[in-house]
Amino acid sequence: MNSNQCSFCGKKRNEVQMLISGNEGFICENCIEQAHAIIAENTMSSGFSAAESIAELKKPKEIKGFLDQYVIGQDQAKKQLSIAVYNHYKRLLHAKDENREVEIEKSNIIMIGETGTGKTLLAKTIAKELNVPFCIVDATILTEAGYVGEDVESILSRLLMVADYDVEKAEKGIVFIDEIDKIARKSDNPSITRDVSGEGVQQGLLKLLEGSIVNVPPQGGRKHPDQKYIQVNTQNILFIAGGAFDGIKEIIERRLNKQAIGFSAEKLNKTEDEDYILSQLNAIDLRKFGLIPELLGRFPIVTYLEKLTKETMIRIMKEPKNSIINQFVELFKMDGVDLKFTDEAIEAIVEETMEKGLGARGLRGATEKVLEDFMFNIEAQDKIILSKDNIKF
Ligand code: ADP
Repeated sequence: MNSNQCSFCGKKRNEVQMLISGNEGFICENCIEQAHAIIAENTMSSGFSAAESIAELKKPKEIKGFLDQYVIGQDQAKKQLSIAVYNHYKRLLHAKDENREVEIEKSNIIMIGETGTGKTLLAKTIAKELNVPFCIVDATILTEAGYVGEDVESILSRLLMVADYDVEKAEKGIVFIDEIDKIARKSDNPSITRDVSGEGVQQGLLKLLEGSIVNVPPQGGRKHPDQKYIQVNTQNILFIAGGAFDGIKEIIERRLNKQAIGFSAEKLNKTEDEDYILSQLNAIDLRKFGLIPELLGRFPIVTYLEKLTKETMIRIMKEPKNSIINQFVELFKMDGVDLKFTDEAIEAIVEETMEKGLGARGLRGATEKVLEDFMFNIEAQDKIILSKDNIKF
């Protein structure tokens, strides 16, 4: 062993700043840095999207198992999403096979459900599990080219940003388009006058969804003539759209009732059950709501999220890995304060939240409010037991 040089690059002691000794040799600071970069690169790309064979892909059950740790309830949506994501990455593998005869098409997903039921959380959690770039865009900021607002291509600017402008990485990412229902056509009939906010944007989205090469303005916003664009191929980007679709229940109900005429009355009674009605949702209803058929064709998977019951909300408070309770307990622990929530306190917080109609989204705010005084007087206590008696909103 030569104690005067790096065993990796051979540089002499006087050519480097540092030589670190090991059992069998030496390493200089440059080689350490290089080795570190190699490790970082490999761990980055070893995500789901880099899988080389079907055996490396997580199976739908495993994906759902991961979702279960963060998202409470919504079993049907979790199941459908797990299958869709698995198929999506299977499709990427298939596309690498040069002898393939069948082209497998992309399966973008629409999730329907009231606000705060976990649509964004589901999409976000999936992206985390897959280790792919993920961005959320609000469909309401988009407008048809030529009008005030952002061009649809700006959706991809965001994805590029989160992928640190690594185009290849962005091309395997997931985009969550929120409030897709807000770009519905206002009336069921194609209008003679142009519908700037709705139909035009839907048309604009088509080319992103179907898989094409799109010129993306790197900083987002509006395109202008002397701007440099980055070309992004959207073929392998998974789009998940979400929306509350207020009034969709009535549309489904009407369709079901129409179908039920002349059949058994039993079917009619069944339609009183809200979750049953929503479970019957299909593309016809979404078309009636105002999404154009071409757009629906690009979203072959339609899933719905159930309304959150009191029981589910209580579970959301307690169960997820990063549950609200765990977060606040941790926060108080940093000051040496032992915080405990009794079941009745949790129930009171849930009831208060449900009144506001914000879904689980409101739980954090309500908890924050309840803890306000305790947080203000943080140094004056070492144990807090939250119960019905000491909480106020
Ligand atoms: P939306 O359906 O409006 O997209 P989000 O997914 O953004 O709702 O939910 C808002 C917040 O509420 C989430 O960040 C999460 O803390 C909580 N939440 C909503 N639904 C669930 C759920 N099913 N399981 C766990 N947490 C949930």
